[in-house]
Amino acid sequence: MSLTLRSVKKSYPDFEIDVSFTAEKGELLTLRGPSGCGKTTTLHIIAGFIYPDMGEIVIDGQRVNEQPPYMRRVGLVFQDYALFPNMNVFSNIAFGLRMQGWNKTDTEKRVKYLLNLIHLPGYGKRNVTELSGGEQQRVALARALAPGPRILLLDEPLSALDARLRKDLRSEVKRIQRELKLTTVYVTHDQEEAFALSDKIVVMREGHVEQIGNASDVYNKPETRFTADFVGMSNKINARLIRQNGETAELESSEGRFSVNFPGKLKTGLKVTILVRPEKCVLLKEKKGINAVTGMVRNCEYLGESTYLEISTKNGMFTAKLPGKVSCTAGETVSIGFSPEDCWILANDSFEL
Ligand code: ATP
Repeated sequence: MSLTLRSVKKSYPDFEIDVSFTAEKGELLTLRGPSGCGKTTTLHIIAGFIYPDMGEIVIDGQRVNEQPPYMRRVGLVFQDYALFPNMNVFSNIAFGLRMQGWNKTDTEKRVKYLLNLIHLPGYGKRNVTELSGGEQQRVALARALAPGPRILLLDEPLSALDARLRKDLRSEVKRIQRELKLTTVYVTHDQEEAFALSDKIVVMREGHVEQIGNASDVYNKPETRFTADFVGMSNKINARLIRQNGETAELESSEGRFSVNFPGKLKTGLKVTILVRPEKCVLLKEKKGINAVTGMVRNCEYLGESTYLEISTKNGMFTAKLPGKVSCTAGETVSIGFSPEDCWILANDSFEL
């Protein structure tokens, strides 16, 4: 089932939400953004706990604004499991089925299927308080899946778990979501988790949608400085557009000439920001030609898999994450380069002189 939010608005005295996006059938869509940008509120609007002032919530082509939460057939999993502590695993998973009046045989069959799906077969009689955090969250997932939801909403489901368990469980969530082809909206603060899981990422800022795209789009082709900074570290070079040949933009700055693969149309003479991710950089033996910056080494740290290098250039500090071990000494002058397909232009940052 697809899910669409069409110009959905909700106003509070100090905050306003205005969001539009679509999760296609079977897609896992992640809401990302700083604390307080409206992710949980958006989930609650989809679930039906909050009624929007305007706009439409559409599930499988049908407007559901007027439907109460139980009619929307939306499954929910929260960070804190919210399991019933006085019930065993079976009763927790069967809870929604009992509410819907399922008979004993069908309920037992369904719970058995779900216990297998979450890789906890035979756990039915256990008390939920005896389970580990990861097991409890699997049970919470099974409980949400039991009545066969059309849409699954997950609000930071793994954030109470330790790092190792988070990784294991996120693969499990993905496996189950794929297996059931379940349209899912996922909220997480964890960048790696979002990138590993998402078919689509919705970057939110102060109640609105800043960018929608897959992980590679938002990381490598951010539309705004906010998205660029939110999803990772980057170097930014102020430059002026000299010309554009098809998808190749030629620019100049105090650092020299640059060439950037960029499909958007920009005006000649425009001042823009070139964006370069640190891991896209290489150390040059000597500076020659285009796409290079030169500066004095301020910091050089070997981190095992890579070397983190900071140099001060005419344009400010520039950082590179170079594979393996690179030997540099503070005070030494070095050049760092990158290829036209490994950088990007923040077109929204442009302005005419
Ligand atoms: P976090 O990542 O910290 O969980 P979030 O992105 O999920 O944050 P929300 O919890 O959706 O953000 O909150 C967004 C904003 O809406 C906040 O500024 C919050 O104060 C405001 N807000 C939410 N509910 C209400 C309410 N009932 N009345 C007034 N303001 C509210």
